[in-house]
Amino acid sequence: MSDGLDKICKTLTMASPISRRMFFALSASVVVVACSKDEKSADTQPGTSTTSAPTTSPVPQVALSGDPFTLGVASGDPTTESVILWTRLAIDALNGGGMPDENIDVLWEVSSTDQFTDIIASGVATAETRFGHAIHVDVPLPTQQSVVSYRFRVGDYTSPVGQTRLAAPADSVEPVRIATASCQNYTAGYYTAYHDMVQEAPDLVVFLGDYIYEGGVGTLGDNTVRLHNSEEITDINAYRNRYGLYKSDPLLQAAHAVCPWVVTWDDHEVENNYANLNPQDATDTAGFAERRAAAYQVWWEHMPVRLAPPVDQDLTIYRQVKWGGLVNMLVLDSRQYRDDQACGDTILQVTPACEEALLPDRTILGTQQETWVADNVVSDSTWTVLANQTVMTDIRLGAAILNYDQWDGYAPSRDRLLETVATAQAKNLIVLTGDIHLGGVGQLTTTSDPETPRGIEFVATSISSSGSVNAATEALFVSLTNIIDAEAQHRGYILHTVTADSWTADYRIVDNALVEGSTVSTWKTFKVTAGSPEVIEV
Ligand code: FE
Ligand code: CA
Repeated sequence: MSDGLDKICKTLTMASPISRRMFFALSASVVVVACSKDEKSADTQPGTSTTSAPTTSPVPQVALSGDPFTLGVASGDPTTESVILWTRLAIDALNGGGMPDENIDVLWEVSSTDQFTDIIASGVATAETRFGHAIHVDVPLPTQQSVVSYRFRVGDYTSPVGQTRLAAPADSVEPVRIATASCQNYTAGYYTAYHDMVQEAPDLVVFLGDYIYEGGVGTLGDNTVRLHNSEEITDINAYRNRYGLYKSDPLLQAAHAVCPWVVTWDDHEVENNYANLNPQDATDTAGFAERRAAAYQVWWEHMPVRLAPPVDQDLTIYRQVKWGGLVNMLVLDSRQYRDDQACGDTILQVTPACEEALLPDRTILGTQQETWVADNVVSDSTWTVLANQTVMTDIRLGAAILNYDQWDGYAPSRDRLLETVATAQAKNLIVLTGDIHLGGVGQLTTTSDPETPRGIEFVATSISSSGSVNAATEALFVSLTNIIDAEAQHRGYILHTVTADSWTADYRIVDNALVEGSTVSTWKTFKVTAGSPEVIEV
């Protein structure tokens, strides 16, 4: 980069969003430079570093034995100014990546067309060996609310093309379409729901956890459609190979390529029902911290997240995503800091809970995250949104807790959260949830005031993970006071249409996820009107 451009970029790094946009407007007809966090600046993050380069920059040359772009591309965590572009180089994704043991420079390009007839930003990012050759580039974009295309290039290879965009500016009340998804057990079904999602082309996908499953090759009986690639995963190489398997699916790659994602995790990214540093089975405690650290790092390597890489055994992922004047979304992490599940973590219990479950200081978010929620839930946004893992709606049967892994097992924590939202006078609470492999609509209430609805929870069924609820249990759920409706027999996702006046949730369900190319249709549509705590079927 020339000294002059270097100065401009350094200035813009500190400049207001408006002047940065002006820069891009000015530069639209000339050779454009992307002002990224350059390699010399103090805020360069490992695995996210990028150098600025003109579009005429040659494609970095390195001898590769095959296509390194087998895992596709992704983008995520858009702000009004920039978006994260992601890929991971892996010639042999199921066997450690198959890459040379050296850091590799990769050219990234952004264009207003998917033919790349114009390049509106470009630069070079370094794929580091220590992060499995993953790349996260924070790319400022020149235009608001228009879709751009992006790709990566190295040697003789060019990646698939993805589409992405910025979040709408703060004064925008343009409707936004958001898909929510979770639970994509590779072995339990095909990703047909993603095929439908790509057709619908939402503005944003919010993924709510269980991106991979950690289990071994063991079958699910008649419901196994394809196999895992190893025994249960516990080390960094095995986690990488497992993400390699999941991300080899073309429908998942297509869903990542269609728009930016906001991703959080639940338990299976590490191990079923783990809690903080407590593994599911106490006999696995030795070594669990190392296992969790490996899982967290590999999750970071594979997700298009605006997060610094892990430096020790923890990884802070709770964060805020805003969209126009409509959405203030807090992305929660209810796994890393939670107290261990109470009462031995038995599930589907209809006997009264043990004393432990009722202790007032029990927390599912941890103290720091509870404080962070209080600080960030205050906003003028029309909709206050929590991107959440396990079911928050109170479905206790008197003193009995059906599922100790859900918020019911942490009721004091839920009560504090709902009171925090009320105290902040945050408007129109919508909770987006996954985990339980069924679709549902719930009404949120506190223990002490069960008559006053505090918000609505939309639970998306799984993309592919098998449902564990039979028709009788489904009927039981629907009969519960706080459950508006539920559907437990299908896989799918929710397509939300958010406006200044209403929040509409279309429950898209796959006729049969055990066969490829099955029909996808709408089960039901639910609507919340801004200013009202009620939800109705439309
Ligand atoms: Fe799941
Ligand atoms: Ca889960």
